[in-house]
Amino acid sequence: MFRVAVISLFPELVEAVTRVGVTGRAVERSLLSVETWNPREFAQDRHRTVDDRAYGGGPGMVMRVEPLGETIRSARASLPSGTRTIYLSPQGRVLDQALVEELAQAPGMLLVAGRYEGVDERLLENEVDMEVSIGDYVLSGGELPAMVLIDALARLQPGALGHAESASQDSFSADGLLDHPHYTRPETVVGKPVPPVLLGGDHEAIRQWRLKQALGRTWQRRPDLLARRELNEEERRLLDE
Ligand code: SAM
Repeated sequence: MFRVAVISLFPELVEAVTRVGVTGRAVERSLLSVETWNPREFAQDRHRTVDDRAYGGGPGMVMRVEPLGETIRSARASLPSGTRTIYLSPQGRVLDQALVEELAQAPGMLLVAGRYEGVDERLLENEVDMEVSIGDYVLSGGELPAMVLIDALARLQPGALGHAESASQDSFSADGLLDHPHYTRPETVVGKPVPPVLLGGDHEAIRQWRLKQALGRTWQRRPDLLARRELNEEERRLLDE
């Protein structure tokens, strides 16, 4: 089982992943566990304060070293050794499928979702192993990024996806291509028929058609992905056709 602990001031937001879709199914099948830790419960004062004004002035509040540090240490003690502590941050390494696959090798992960202007820098230096961003934009909290990471990881747990689905065929998976287009009933939609090859039952022809589509749309939409890999003979031929 892949074990995730999330430190958040809004645990109810993160817990939604345990109830729906692929992530919910992974939890139900004991392939994934998601527990939440709220730093407010570790605050010592009667107002359960977790933030304070920034030294040097300026707008916004900063999450204090304590009680967040106390929460991190308690959560870490409950997780298997080898679990990395990851702070979700717009300044971190930008998440991609390669990083998801790397993180999936561990027994679990401890995610720290920030709020306000972020977290006291000394806490990051002392308690955090890595920072991960979900893209070059700023959100108001790390909960949605944590949920993004949990979802991407859940898909990679063996048995998490249904029979017909396979993470290995998705975009950015082992072949490094975008996925091919998908069609379902009805056969014609506003005058657009399903590509005839998909109706013929010739599995080899379908495989080749899908590969050609995947190559074509990767070349059109994300040429940077193709630039990162060698084309094999079949792929070169299909692209040239
Ligand atoms: N002042 C910070 C900065 O500019 O780098 C942004 C703080 S943001 C308003 C509050 C929290 O949201 C952050 O502590 C982080 O946990 C989370 N966050 C915001 N954008 C994110 C992103 N793109 N990826 C991951 N986490 C993000």
